[in-house]
Amino acid sequence: MKITKATIFFPRKGVAATLGVRVYTDEGIYGDGEVAVINANYASFGALRDLLPFIIGRNPLDTEAIWDDLYKKTFYGQNGGQAFFAGLGAIDLALWDIKGKFFDVPLYVLLGGKKRDKIRAYASQLQMAWDYDPTGGNRSHDGGNSYAFLDKLFANKPEQFAANAKYCVEELGYDAIKIDFFNNDENGRPLTELDRNGLLKSRTLALVVDRVAAVREAIGPDVDLIVENHCYTDAQAAIQIAQAIEKYNIYYFEEPCTPSPRMSKYVKDNINIPVANGERIISRWEYVDYFEENSIQVIQPDMGNNGGITEVKKICDMAYVYDVGVQLHVCGSHLMTPASLHLEAVIPNFLIHEHHVISQWSDYILFTDRTYDPVNGYFEIPDLPGAGIEWSDYTLNCEEQITIE
Ligand code: MG
Repeated sequence: MKITKATIFFPRKGVAATLGVRVYTDEGIYGDGEVAVINANYASFGALRDLLPFIIGRNPLDTEAIWDDLYKKTFYGQNGGQAFFAGLGAIDLALWDIKGKFFDVPLYVLLGGKKRDKIRAYASQLQMAWDYDPTGGNRSHDGGNSYAFLDKLFANKPEQFAANAKYCVEELGYDAIKIDFFNNDENGRPLTELDRNGLLKSRTLALVVDRVAAVREAIGPDVDLIVENHCYTDAQAAIQIAQAIEKYNIYYFEEPCTPSPRMSKYVKDNINIPVANGERIISRWEYVDYFEENSIQVIQPDMGNNGGITEVKKICDMAYVYDVGVQLHVCGSHLMTPASLHLEAVIPNFLIHEHHVISQWSDYILFTDRTYDPVNGYFEIPDLPGAGIEWSDYTLNCEEQITIE
């Protein structure tokens, strides 16, 4: 079997861009992959465009050999950043999809077999309401890199955060949720680096604490609450926040500051909440220092920006040696959900699956031929050959696409 051509599809630009690839073979089997880099758009498009000519004519089953060739022989790939590893990851996902279809088995079989039959999930980013669709089926906000619609999305008052959390717990059955408490002030003014960097003003710190308190009160003691910080603050402010909210029993504290093994250890040594990080830590070569320093308790690699299944499986296996848990970062299109579930079903150190609020937006449902959603907070593992999902006709017919052959 040989790879004959590949097409890059760009059905959504701007915020939360969607960028897909389909790799074709001379046996009629094709595989789909995705670049999952938030807002990066053309950086990853360029990486993917650079890499695809290297795989034409190769046997798609040679996933390990192709991965290493793309890493080593492209010159700029070694220790490459998120754009490069996203391009590499999209190709790797497509090749694994082909491999599963070729052997007529779901990916989890090829990855080592299921260790669990159900995958526990948390509802992610509940600063946005789960049942509010800002796209409403029309895509007028995209294409212009407009961020304006985001301001309307976020909760401001503590009771709004509490209502978003309560909906997912009581109506949908999740027993774990994640919230970023630090986007806007109580009147909806977006917070800036001036508000968030350095030691926080008492009033700013109270803004976060009041919101966390309201959510814990609303969901009760048994729901796991993950606090997302999106690297907004520096380490000093992250420690202030963590110390102020630890009494509310936080499951873990995500991206406390700009990823750095040294600063992650500083934060971890000064707080009593486990630290999670990884959507911006790229490849084994960056992860190893976090493991050696014991500065991270939960890793969050994304198969769509971190070298695909081939690389992320290795990062997860490295983490197991250091008793570090795995929560894959999942916030691309629906294509990334089943691909992630297959790996999560297999690895021993899986912790919890991220199900992102944007998965509910109506324009996201257009991009793939199906969607996967949990029932009462738990996913089934897909049993279709390959990843179990494909790009839809909507994506395959999108205006901006390019074929390499
Ligand atoms: Mg995050």
